[in-house]
Amino acid sequence: MLKKSIIVIFIILAAGAVVYFWPKNQSVNEQNSQIVPESKFRQENIVIDPGNTFSVITENIGLPASTTQALMRATEGVYDLASVRAGRSIDFFFDKQTGVLQQMIYNINSEEELTVDLIEGAYKAERKKIDYEIKLKTVGGSIDSSLYASALAQGIDERAVIALADVFAWSIDFGMGIRKGDTYKFIYEERYRNGQYVMPGTVLAARFVNDGKVVEGFYYSDGTDEDGELSEGYYDPEGNSLEKIFLKNPVDFRYISSGFTTGKRYISAFNISTGHRAIDYAAAQGTPIKAVGDGRVTYAGWNSQGYGNMVSIRHNGTYSTNYAHQSKILVKVGQMVEQGQVIGKVGSTGLSTGPHLHFEIVQNGVKINPLTLDLPSQESISQDKMEAYKIYIQDWQAKLN
Ligand SMILES: [Zn+2]
Repeated sequence: MLKKSIIVIFIILAAGAVVYFWPKNQSVNEQNSQIVPESKFRQENIVIDPGNTFSVITENIGLPASTTQALMRATEGVYDLASVRAGRSIDFFFDKQTGVLQQMIYNINSEEELTVDLIEGAYKAERKKIDYEIKLKTVGGSIDSSLYASALAQGIDERAVIALADVFAWSIDFGMGIRKGDTYKFIYEERYRNGQYVMPGTVLAARFVNDGKVVEGFYYSDGTDEDGELSEGYYDPEGNSLEKIFLKNPVDFRYISSGFTTGKRYISAFNISTGHRAIDYAAAQGTPIKAVGDGRVTYAGWNSQGYGNMVSIRHNGTYSTNYAHQSKILVKVGQMVEQGQVIGKVGSTGLSTGPHLHFEIVQNGVKINPLTLDLPSQESISQDKMEAYKIYIQDWQAKLN
């Protein structure tokens, strides 16, 4: 999910929205002070500075070295204090009378915290799942410029907006596909601790009307954990996964004539040295070339830098693909294409020594190796669970209406 969030952040930036800034979560720490009665204890809340180690932090607050060592020992095998992260915070609670450290709480992440308590003279460490109280929130609106701007104008937590964009990352192009008047509505969890709002949780149901087209997504988990993995994800009303994988190959090829290299290679035919951030599929002249995914054609024509006849397709805010050396181009700029649609024919135009397809995948502006791309799974709701799924989403669909 982290990788996806980064992708989505990029989408939002690309959309020309305000620079995204992850707000530091103060309320979680405030809550911790209520675990120990305030009257007896003095609390010290430390936000970790970049480069500061745990021992530097404890030294700064005047903790005896022996206590620091005791904390290190107590947390061994529970959590490695060497990996405390800048920007996160640690709460220390001292006995007001004796000055002895009674409790330490470190928020490992939004899901877990490390607590170390002084129990009968010894520190005991524990890693705990943070239990939030969950409230459901339904929000929606119509888009003037970007989803981000619209949602923010309504006071929706930006992290919830990012989660929403994540749900539809494969279905909607938030960078270029958004139209004025598009509407959205979604229901998500709000996480509270001791009555105070902390952060958004899971987006449970969402509807986006994009250019007149209705796209719906529902979070669904069948609750089974048979092979160690929980089956969960976002699905459309028909139970198809919202994460759409690309076709494995854009062409029925004979063999791969050149793999992906980031270093330079010498091409004797043209007396040039160049890296090859692409896959070359050797195939017969005229073999149909297929779009690996749904998208919009952003380039279709001659490329004078060696690519010959080339087509570029933008799939979403993250991915685009390029198809070079074509003998014939069958699409036009601006055209929407579907996964598997024939967009052209294999040729040897441009810098090419024989018929092949030079295929590139561009992720956030960087050419990546198509053969090692870790794409999301496309598994849909299985037939035996379809009935349960359809019943489950009825309620959410009604709520979205
Ligand atoms: Zn090539």
